[in-house]
Amino acid sequence: MKAMKIYLDGNFVDKDEAKISVFDHGLLYGDGIFEGIRIYKNCIYRLEEHLERLWYSAKAILLEMPMTMEEMSEAVCESCRQNNLTDGYIRLIVTRGQGNLGLSPESCVKPTVIIIADAIRLYPEEHYTKGLAIVTVPTRRVAPAALDPSIKSLNYLNNVMAKMEAAQWGALEAIMLNDHGYVAECTGDNLFVVHKGAIYTPGVANGALRGITRQAVMDLAASLDIKLEEKNLTRYDIWNADECFLTGTAAELIPVVKLDGRKIGLDGPGPITKKLHAAFHDEVTTHGTMI
Ligand code: PMP
Repeated sequence: MKAMKIYLDGNFVDKDEAKISVFDHGLLYGDGIFEGIRIYKNCIYRLEEHLERLWYSAKAILLEMPMTMEEMSEAVCESCRQNNLTDGYIRLIVTRGQGNLGLSPESCVKPTVIIIADAIRLYPEEHYTKGLAIVTVPTRRVAPAALDPSIKSLNYLNNVMAKMEAAQWGALEAIMLNDHGYVAECTGDNLFVVHKGAIYTPGVANGALRGITRQAVMDLAASLDIKLEEKNLTRYDIWNADECFLTGTAAELIPVVKLDGRKIGLDGPGPITKKLHAAFHDEVTTHGTMI
């Protein structure tokens, strides 16, 4: 089998040769940003939105991107072509780059850019029909005052902790509350509830990432004339929801049927979840950039 080609600072190198310095501040301090992107039938879904979010993350951490958005777009497309990837997952990483052991990024001359075009690992299929059982974990989402959750940074340790806590309860995903006890999001997915025909999701001020799939659901709800509002949600709202679902680049839309062992809503995806997921599938091969 042909080795996977990784984009590393302007070159395509074999997976085994794709190495970065131990002095890279992405490794030393989690100083960097990333994106996770899907390609469906040669169409990179909402690539422009992903690049825009990446550029905003860069600006927020005062990281000067070493290339233009057009160049990045081309590098992402070329990564898929190099790997004959027509359907899959693309991980885009930009670190502060190589520096000295000091915390300050001043010693870092140039950001490191990495693009990995790989197969997609979804939740097991049965969870799309039967729904996920998730739990609430003790690890809280980082407060916006500490690190704005809109920054998709390489600092994912609290999400990793939350994911491990979920696994200890046998769950694949977990709800993270914010400092005030409101629902922020899950470890790698945004959360939505449906109540009396309307959709509600936590606002970004509550600690939710500005998910690209979250935005897709907002756009689709508007086009389907379904009311959608950002709202402070507590677990009460989930216990009493008619439907609950998560969104993420890898997950797409996945129904949630249990929280902390309690049944919520129906035994599988509810009518609005189904309608939105179908509409989402309809747009993934058209709403993006062809490679
Ligand atoms: N929240 C977090 C913490 C995430 O890491 C992700 C995945 N990128 C999401 C939400 C979902 O965002 P998106 O739809 O852009 O993948």
